[in-house]
Amino acid sequence: MKFSRKNIQDLRFIVQLIFMLGLFISFMPYYNPFGKYLFLPILIAGVFFCGWVCPFGALQDWTSKIARFFKLPRYQVPDRFQKYLQLSRYVFYALGILGISFAILNARHAFNKSLFSGHLTIVAGIILLIFILLSLFIDRPFCNYFCQKGASYGLLSVLRIFGISRDNSQCVHCKLCDKRCPMNIKIESNEFVRHPNCINCMTCVSVCPKKCINYKLFIEQKTDKISSQKK
Ligand code: SF4
Ligand code: SF4
Ligand code: SF4
Repeated sequence: MKFSRKNIQDLRFIVQLIFMLGLFISFMPYYNPFGKYLFLPILIAGVFFCGWVCPFGALQDWTSKIARFFKLPRYQVPDRFQKYLQLSRYVFYALGILGISFAILNARHAFNKSLFSGHLTIVAGIILLIFILLSLFIDRPFCNYFCQKGASYGLLSVLRIFGISRDNSQCVHCKLCDKRCPMNIKIESNEFVRHPNCINCMTCVSVCPKKCINYKLFIEQKTDKISSQKK
């Protein structure tokens, strides 16, 4: 069987499932066990942890998948609001550093802990349920607007040397990539995505009908552009 771009999402599902089961059978602690080792990989390659490993990210993805299967309506926050709203998780992160806690909103922690230890308070359960219900209609609501951990990883990733690259000469501007990006990033208007919210899920790579989105070295993208201009 030939490995196609769509199979990247099958592979991602399997990796997410392994880590979800890891949490369930407790070989993976409910706090992020890789935290201290992620600094360099994120600086170089971006936030694969969020797109491929984090169980709460996976739960939101799978809930959205089920909603798409049942053809529930999907909503994307309009650009005029998104450009401000996407800053919210960084605001929560900054306030957290200043000692203002939003632990009550931490659905990721509640989910991981409940799967790991079987313990869930009523308040944490309600918060968790709210985000699961929201995921039926919008992609990754917690990751997009609330996750302080995701915000800290995102800030680290802005200078990464590998990223999502779009070949404008092949693009037909259908905007399917924008529509399907779970983090609401405008890919169609960028040639190299270094957005701090990118989680390297590769959804844009999988859905592009012209196969003109790739994950590559920034310098390689520049070289390709120069050679296509010379043609
Ligand atoms: S943003 Fe937070 S909840 Fe979402 S995948 Fe990353 S660490 Fe997990
Ligand atoms: S999905 Fe592909 S062809 Fe469509 S706008 Fe995005 S990059 Fe261009
Ligand atoms: S830009 Fe692509 S890889 Fe990054 S979050 Fe959006 S769909 Fe995923």
